[in-house]
Amino acid sequence: MPEIVLDRVGKTFAGQTQAVENLSITIPDGSFTTLLGPSGCGKTTTLRMIAGLDSPTAGEIRIGDTVVFSMQQGLFLQPAERDLGLVFQSYALWPHLTVAENISFGLELKSLSKKEICERLEQIAQALRIDDLLNRYTNELSGGQQQRVAIARVLVLRPSVLLLDEPLSNLDATLRMEMRAELKRLHRDTNTTIIYVTHDQIEALTMSTHIALMRSGALQQFAPPLEIYEKPCNQFSADFLGSPRINFLDIRVIDDVIVWGDLRLPVPKSLIGSTKKNIKLGLRAEEFFLSRIYVSGSAKGKIITILPTGADWFYQVQTGDQILTIRQNDSTPFDCDEIVYIEARPDSLKLFDELEQALIWRN
Ligand code: ATP
Repeated sequence: MPEIVLDRVGKTFAGQTQAVENLSITIPDGSFTTLLGPSGCGKTTTLRMIAGLDSPTAGEIRIGDTVVFSMQQGLFLQPAERDLGLVFQSYALWPHLTVAENISFGLELKSLSKKEICERLEQIAQALRIDDLLNRYTNELSGGQQQRVAIARVLVLRPSVLLLDEPLSNLDATLRMEMRAELKRLHRDTNTTIIYVTHDQIEALTMSTHIALMRSGALQQFAPPLEIYEKPCNQFSADFLGSPRINFLDIRVIDDVIVWGDLRLPVPKSLIGSTKKNIKLGLRAEEFFLSRIYVSGSAKGKIITILPTGADWFYQVQTGDQILTIRQNDSTPFDCDEIVYIEARPDSLKLFDELEQALIWRN
């Protein structure tokens, strides 16, 4: 399986909309790489440029040893010459063909022997657990089953790279959860390089080996999911990954203490004596601790909303003019309107320059 290199790739539509700007990433061989970001940030355009469905207006794209696009050399390989499999949001299965016929259609075009077609069909149907559906017509299938057929139809051709554009967005929440696990298992079993487009950060966090986080056509961060979660390179990365959203506090650093209202935290050594102003502290919901008893260095707050999820309790706590979202898994939950004391226990202290929004310190 090849690695895929995007080297200073750009795309401007009709000389106007700059959909992708100076994008350089190396998608590792055998990885499950997710292009993640808000609507309109250039994810689909990037995927389509890798597939050869759109031509970039700058840069170079290599798949393994093959240059598939080069602006400088005036080179563009057609999609069929790139050995890629594509699955889009709409599965576009043929309703007048059975599942088996849908899957084997591409193999017949490749003029494979009947025996080989049968063997490959059986193998892929088993891997995707659709072997008992092979004789059904596709309009007799559930959304999740159709989605698996669409993936089987592409994977049976054994592409070296599988490109998926929001393939789960038509499914209900339960099916989506199941399919995430299936896709992850499929990736492990086949070791195919997968490039996956989504705006759903949970999907990206749970499935990917790598995330390319994009904003307004520009790459923000390219790293494994937990690395982005724990070491976001800027406020956008910190804010986009994680549910609920991270809390940002406008802090002051006084001597060797971080001060936010009554809340106190020891300052990292490297910041002692720093003249940096306008610092924001990013604290995730799980990095707080709530107590009914005042502890030195804690801030007073009032519970204004309680959102129980079964295993955890999410509280919105008003303190001063800010509302914090805090997660606790206590057996003795707090009540609405209760006065609480908030301590911060950052697993990784994340400080951001408020003006440039870049991460300036993390332990
Ligand atoms: P979504 O999650 O909503 O699908 P996306 O991140 O995939 O968004 P793209 O579809 O890549 O974003 O679009 C990036 C930008 O390029 C957007 O501003 C979009 O309007 C613009 N764009 C996309 N396709 C075209 C096109 N064919 N002609 C002109 N502009 C386009």
